[in-house]
Amino acid sequence: MTHIATKLTAARCITIDDQEVPNAVPPGFVRLRLAAASLCGTDLHYYAHFANAGFELQNPVTLGHEACARVVDPNGSDLRPGQLVALNPIMNCGQCDPCRRGEENLCRHKNFPGSATTVPHLDGFFREIIDHPLRCCRPVAETVNPRHLTFAEPMACALHALNKAGVEAGQEVLVMGCGPMGLLTVAGACARKAHVSAADLRPAAVDVAVRAGAAEGLVIGEIDTGDLEKRFDVVIEASGAISAFNTALEAVKQKGRVAILSNIQLTQAEVMLRLIMLKEIEIVGSFQFNKEFEEAVRLIEEGSVDFDTLTADLFPLENTAQALRMMADGKALGKIVLLGPDER
Ligand SMILES: [Zn+2]
Ligand SMILES: [Zn+2]
Repeated sequence: MTHIATKLTAARCITIDDQEVPNAVPPGFVRLRLAAASLCGTDLHYYAHFANAGFELQNPVTLGHEACARVVDPNGSDLRPGQLVALNPIMNCGQCDPCRRGEENLCRHKNFPGSATTVPHLDGFFREIIDHPLRCCRPVAETVNPRHLTFAEPMACALHALNKAGVEAGQEVLVMGCGPMGLLTVAGACARKAHVSAADLRPAAVDVAVRAGAAEGLVIGEIDTGDLEKRFDVVIEASGAISAFNTALEAVKQKGRVAILSNIQLTQAEVMLRLIMLKEIEIVGSFQFNKEFEEAVRLIEEGSVDFDTLTADLFPLENTAQALRMMADGKALGKIVLLGPDER
């Protein structure tokens, strides 16, 4: 097999194919070879259900939107062959109102790889050769480890939530949920010198959050959530559980903010609206990212976050199915990373 391409053909069915690579690289694009990619909750939903948050896939697609890669063909650009770049998966139109405001996450004509929201679907990054728009490639210093750079996209999502919630140094911040996104949020809030508490049902996941810098780990079920009442300036909901959202409403101070970062599926929820009114809580949604992609890459270049602690396991690209199964089992603590053929 010359080049590996993985494809999701049905729920829980990943095929490995020999990738067909066109001779010419399209204008404005560069040709890249995958260095590292990471698995996201979105990938997991598509893998398990062939759908995510109400969006159904219409045909087989390569998953993956978190990755970094090395330049194969700069296609006339200033990039050098072999150079490592972070891939921004948001391919926005640049013309619509949100784009003009710098809110490309809300672009009305956005293309996003490995997702049912873009029709016809674009293949994602779980493949060896990737043609990506030059403007969405961010070159990095030679010293950056691809295993860390693949976290640029999810870290940008976490930083967007922190920005929407206005998290700053010295604040009391609670992160609900210590899955991959919760852990990255903990790391991002700690990098901002906030005082961070992290909560999850799983003691082992809370341990990882503490190793990632949380000053306090809270195991839901072992603590009295009543003790959290009105303690936090900001709560970031990263668990996806409605009960966690209600705990967030209790735990936040008067006039505090609750940001919703978790990948919420289509569901009816009983929410304690009364607390939002009584405490004048501000609820903010957080979807993807904008300028935070650059912030995330800088954080990775600085080396100030210990991404190894946040990595659950590493798999070669051809074992993508095994990696997704591990994530589906719910036993992984932290992010699962796929490595391209040259990065083993
Ligand atoms: Zn993601
Ligand atoms: Zn747009």
